[in-house]
Amino acid sequence: MDPRSARVIADLRELAALTTDERGAQRVAWGPIWRKTRAWFADKLREIGVEPELDPAANMWGTVPGQSPRCLIIGSHLDSVPGGGWLDGCLGVIAGLEVLRAAKAAGGPPALTLKVVDWADEEGARFGRSLVGSSASAGTLQPEAELAHLVDRAGVRMVDALAENGVSFDDLRAAQAYLQAQQPAAYLELHIEQGPVLEELNEPVGVVLGTMGVERHMLRFVGQAAHSGAAPLHLRKDAFLAAAEFALACRDISTRCSGSEPKTRVVATCGVVKVEPNFITAVPGATEISIDMRALDAGVLAQMFAEAQAASKVAAARHLVEVQWTRVWDIPPRLFDPTLLGFVRESVREVVGRAPELPSGPLHDAAEMVPLMPTAMVFAQSSPGVSHTRIEDTPEPALDASIQAFLRTVDKTVAHYGAGGPAA
Ligand SMILES: [Zn+2]
Repeated sequence: MDPRSARVIADLRELAALTTDERGAQRVAWGPIWRKTRAWFADKLREIGVEPELDPAANMWGTVPGQSPRCLIIGSHLDSVPGGGWLDGCLGVIAGLEVLRAAKAAGGPPALTLKVVDWADEEGARFGRSLVGSSASAGTLQPEAELAHLVDRAGVRMVDALAENGVSFDDLRAAQAYLQAQQPAAYLELHIEQGPVLEELNEPVGVVLGTMGVERHMLRFVGQAAHSGAAPLHLRKDAFLAAAEFALACRDISTRCSGSEPKTRVVATCGVVKVEPNFITAVPGATEISIDMRALDAGVLAQMFAEAQAASKVAAARHLVEVQWTRVWDIPPRLFDPTLLGFVRESVREVVGRAPELPSGPLHDAAEMVPLMPTAMVFAQSSPGVSHTRIEDTPEPALDASIQAFLRTVDKTVAHYGAGGPAA
């Protein structure tokens, strides 16, 4: 194994031992184990001679000044879901720590200023709003509208949990100016895939093309509740059957819109179904069903959305019910920078001989950086291909390959944007 990979893996295991119990990792943002995680990371930075800095949104930064004040930002998140794994987020932050460590050991200043950032509350595990720190820095977070009403399961308001960590809504708004003042030239993130695609391909490392756009909606089908014995089939207005046909239609739409390669795959999921009145002798009079559609291509996503709307009307008409759509959330696809993608492809090919490409279905902090600066990501294979569970893992050879590919990408990026490189 490459000695730099070995150092990253040793740090990751040390952090896991400190913050994991029998149910998994417990680094939930804004809580005591997360603060312990941050204290550990701050000590790691100090060990290499870097003084950690907190920005107004509680994102933790470490800096090695370069010949140019413009910086390469390497980021991800140390927070986890309750009962999470040892790699989700941490891999990228600790790889960034290794970049700073090597730059310090090299003696002279790097061509570009190097920064590692641990974004606060990427997971949104406690209050339900993810990407809190990175979206505050990107200026896309609206604290009053999005956070003021949020409460955790114990009844604690998010505003109070933030205050416990020294953060106010005004601070969140100030994070944008802090990021702009860093003069960012580019952003890179190493992350585990969290899915089974690279594992199925037997590939240790993947080139991430961007994060998929998302269309997320709730539908309400309304018919007429009736007695399950008394209502003849042809006289029913069964809202659940309409919702069920809609779900099957969405599966067909996503199958039809999917290309054969991983990079052109799309997904559609109906994850919530609520039937009313919800008892065994009642024809369902109303049914709520969710739809979450994702695609890397904006045109394909728009087509999926249009076809899903049409399918809901067909299903409603067949069952003599009405349907209403309510938008829950959406985000456009965030495509990564062509120049950086070139560096990632070269680096992955240098390490493993191939450069498989795939989109990210999950969102990442990197998605928030795309509108602000050239951005790219490297994926390490997940095996088993799951995340947000204590069994989340990546075999050491794949971790080694992904870390090596990422560090090479960093070197190419620094050489490109460093002194004499292209201007902002
Ligand atoms: Zn993550």
